Amino acid sequence: MNREVPQLLQLTTRPLVIAGPCSVENEAQIHATAAMLAKEHVSILRGGVWKPRSRPGTFSGIGKEALDWLVAAAQTNGLYSAVEVATAEHVAQSLAAGVDILWIGARSTVSPFVVQEIADALQGINIPVLIKNPINPDLELWMGAIERIQQAGITNIAAIHRGFSSFDKKQYRNVPHWEIPLELKRRMPDIPLICDPSHICGTKDLIAHVAQRAMDLNFDGLMIEAHHAPEQALSDKEQQLSPKELGDLLRNLVIRDVHSDNELFVNQLLLLRKKIDKLDFDTLELLAERNKLVKDIGRYKKENNVSIFQPDRWAEIVQTRSKYGQEIGLSEELISDLLKGIHRESIHLQTQILNNTKEK
Ligand code: PEP
Ligand code: MN
Repeated sequence: MNREVPQLLQLTTRPLVIAGPCSVENEAQIHATAAMLAKEHVSILRGGVWKPRSRPGTFSGIGKEALDWLVAAAQTNGLYSAVEVATAEHVAQSLAAGVDILWIGARSTVSPFVVQEIADALQGINIPVLIKNPINPDLELWMGAIERIQQAGITNIAAIHRGFSSFDKKQYRNVPHWEIPLELKRRMPDIPLICDPSHICGTKDLIAHVAQRAMDLNFDGLMIEAHHAPEQALSDKEQQLSPKELGDLLRNLVIRDVHSDNELFVNQLLLLRKKIDKLDFDTLELLAERNKLVKDIGRYKKENNVSIFQPDRWAEIVQTRSKYGQEIGLSEELISDLLKGIHRESIHLQTQILNNTKEK
């Protein structure tokens, strides 16, 4: 009955793979899926039993009865079980059923009330908890949820990146915004990062590409929805892989080393990084020099009673810099981000001068 508490990253070689259906639908489904997944590089069987669907009137999970099926399917096949919890009652029922790992879904991470309720229910319990990013691109909320669970005494925590909601669903169901999980890693380096390409993509075709991207960015694991008969799935049908498709995806993944001991490589990298360091500092000095000129212009505009924002000049800057930047191989996105930052700073500095507020 009492199974050992899994230490997430020690379960397997990278990547840690969590797979299973979006929802546990019936006993036969979860057993069939688990048996097939156990033959692949999968350590943890996922399955939702309480499903937070966006619209009512759709399949919203079997409820607590399905917990026993999930746990039994995992145990029979040598896997650990994981379920989503959103209330204190879900936590109590999952623990009573012997679920090995809990996860907090994106719609729960968004609410500090919900996360705190789950944290309070977890006080003094030793169980791994996976925390999905909130549906909105808010790193503070994600970190806040992790901190609340840490404060409950849970040490075995991982973060799941499942992308962020947007109105435009052309390419992704949930936009990845990779910079957000990477910033989380910078600020919380000890929290393992798991990518959920299924909820990022929303359809099968991009999943392998997003999973590879996560590996290239050094994520520790993957959570991927898989169903023994995806075409019959009662929720998230379009994005669920068959166990065979999941197996192929995992076999084709290129897993990159975090470090290399090859002396030549290490020396080359050091050399290139030194050059990058110098260029970064040169760039900062150029920006500081630019700021000085911006301030001179600000003072001059003030003396002549001219407004700060000159639409023609700004349009010309965007046009000429974008054209030249692209000619020398910079991406449109980088040029646009850079110009936006420079323009914001310029307006800010000149406003200070015109209003006689603090001039740095
Ligand atoms: C899920 O994993 O099935 C789920 C509901 O995901 P998310 O919380 O990422 O929407
Ligand atoms: Mn799902």
